[in-house]
Amino acid sequence: DRALVWFRRDLRADDNAALYRALTGARQVFCAFVLDRDILDALPRADRRVEFILGALQVLDEDLRKLGGALIVRHGTAADEIPRLAAELGVQAVFANHDDEPQALSRDARVAERLASFNAALRTFKDHVVFERREVMTGAGGAYGVFTPYKNAWLKKVDEFYLSSYPVERHAQALATTALANGVPALADIGFRPAGLTAHVGQGSRGADALLDDFLDRISDYDKKRDFPAIKGPSYLSVHLRFGTVSIRRLARIAHQRMLGGDHGAEVWLSELIWRDFYHQVMHHHPHAMTAAFRPEYDAIAWETGPHADALFQAWCEGRTGFPLVDAAMRQLSQTGYMHNRLRMVTASFLAKDLGLDWRRGEAWFARQLLDFDLAANNGGWQWASSSGCDAQPYFRIFNPTAQSEKFDAEGRFIRRYCPELAGLDAKAIHAPWERAPLAMQGVDYPRPVVDHAVARERTLARYAVVKSRA
Ligand code: FAD
Repeated sequence: DRALVWFRRDLRADDNAALYRALTGARQVFCAFVLDRDILDALPRADRRVEFILGALQVLDEDLRKLGGALIVRHGTAADEIPRLAAELGVQAVFANHDDEPQALSRDARVAERLASFNAALRTFKDHVVFERREVMTGAGGAYGVFTPYKNAWLKKVDEFYLSSYPVERHAQALATTALANGVPALADIGFRPAGLTAHVGQGSRGADALLDDFLDRISDYDKKRDFPAIKGPSYLSVHLRFGTVSIRRLARIAHQRMLGGDHGAEVWLSELIWRDFYHQVMHHHPHAMTAAFRPEYDAIAWETGPHADALFQAWCEGRTGFPLVDAAMRQLSQTGYMHNRLRMVTASFLAKDLGLDWRRGEAWFARQLLDFDLAANNGGWQWASSSGCDAQPYFRIFNPTAQSEKFDAEGRFIRRYCPELAGLDAKAIHAPWERAPLAMQGVDYPRPVVDHAVARERTLARYAVVKSRA
């Protein structure tokens, strides 16, 4: 009997649940990826993620060939291509890993239905997270809405079984090749142009290995360094987790072992991996929150609208708000497709609570720009910052962008990197240039602050008051 493995957000040949299940369940296993027109046609013609995916597919194809298989790459809609391929290859089952985004679930339902029409089945498995869906629930059987108790339950449940890898290599003899596996297309073949700058994250699973090696030398300092954007604190593995070019079990296993050995940095990093699981289970239990406020009373907030609001939004996107740390962060995002976590919090809070704009506008901008864009994590982050989320920042806590700058980029090193026009200012002036060094700013092409933080703060408290009256 024959099976087809359909790769989606799991672009690696090692420790892959669906691939392992197919190899242990069928005598001949084919592998495929669909460059899905339902997703790609909506993107701008230059998109870093498309470039990253093609690079990752190349590595995946090479790795599969080393094991005796090969990757079939199709360009079309998954709902058409997968059933067609299954029929052409005469497979009885298609194996894939869970993707719990609402759109992915409806896509999978369409694929399953078509497969069923010729008695083939879609079989799906957990692979993308350590615990999914209903695996970590409260004692009363409900879903956790607060992170810390969720994390405690997660840590209590986790053991070697959940963190061990699927030994794909041991069963690789079932991998089959076919003439249909004729290489990975180039960007131009699928109508895209280079977007540049994905080199810093490396190519596919090989890039992930290199970043992981580098991070493991620093993991013990993660807790001390992770909040400062000018230094190399975090792992930069997010894009690899997003596309599955690294296994979450492998990362969690390393962090968990080190934590048990007393490594505090690794313990804090493991917490971040648990946040990732947390937001994925929030998406499973509360799909409505992917488009509306998790707490419905927050949808009563009246955000700024009209031409002035549009101009503020534009300034935010372009990194021209007059708040240097915010601007440096927004430029980092558009130049590299990455933004440091501390700065995601600062810029998101700034959009909702200083500019008074609907957090969904910012969420959508991040979704277009981030190489690591992930619906569950991005939505979770935005709802945290705007206070509408499940375990969110209380609405009356409002980051002061200048104070954040002084605290987390004290010397202005990060600001200087992305706002070179401010590079000549000293470490005190650089956080509030027009206020602290007005003379030095004469003739410098850098905007004055688009809002007064103290005024904006009062307005936000008033704007959010509607929440209190409805809660
Ligand atoms: P590290 O600090 O090395 O963390 C390791 C991994 O843990 C990350 O790669 C990520 O997979 C996970 N992680 C860390 N923090 C979080 C978190 N708060 N929530 C969920 N997972 C987390 N992360 C995304 O992967 N995609 C997004 O689209 C995204 N959007 C965000 C939007 C906002 C407004 C905020 C505040 C956060 C967002 N995050 C998002 C979470 C976090 O900022 C990034 O995961 C992190 O900055 C990625 O860098 P890293 O891999 O170097 O992280």
